[in-house]
Amino acid sequence: MRRGAEGWEWLVVHVTESPLPVGEEVDLSVDREHRTALSAGHTACHLAALALNAVLADRWRKEARPDSLGNPDFDQAAITSSRIEPHGSVDVYRLGKSLRKKGFSAEDLDPAQVAAQVNELLAGWVAADAPVRVEVPGPELTARRTWHCSLPEGEASIPCGGTHLTRTSELGRVSVALTLDDAALTMRTTVSMC
Ligand SMILES: [Zn+2]
Repeated sequence: MRRGAEGWEWLVVHVTESPLPVGEEVDLSVDREHRTALSAGHTACHLAALALNAVLADRWRKEARPDSLGNPDFDQAAITSSRIEPHGSVDVYRLGKSLRKKGFSAEDLDPAQVAAQVNELLAGWVAADAPVRVEVPGPELTARRTWHCSLPEGEASIPCGGTHLTRTSELGRVSVALTLDDAALTMRTTVSMC
């Protein structure tokens, strides 16, 4: 069903452990600590993707769709799965034939070296204490939300409906580890908040 289709409403569903009688009043509370941990993981996930795009930028031999900072968007072109965890994320990229056809060269890619460069960028972004915000164009659930981060390199933005921290400095320390297995590049991002 498309967003905004007539006759359809989009709602959040809460799954309860035991059935409740219809009409029963309930209290809902957010687990603040757990949400903060997920917010940290999610903010770090977006920053790591942008840093990875920047580090891999010179491996593109054809023009590729750029990300919001102007680098070829490796993340969007190659991602096969992305999972946000408390204080981190796991992103898997496929370096297969289709990516090669798009112009990306994975020749002699050294995961440890790429990770070191990504981590250097991330450290700079955390130190920059850049503000993070989510732009919400309307009150409805289907409104297209956009994540924004004002980095020293420019205004970064990514379509996103998740929860986030409000400044990069709140992350404390972010680092990624990269592993290359067959044609799958896995990026594990870890936040160690102060
Ligand atoms: Zn997101």
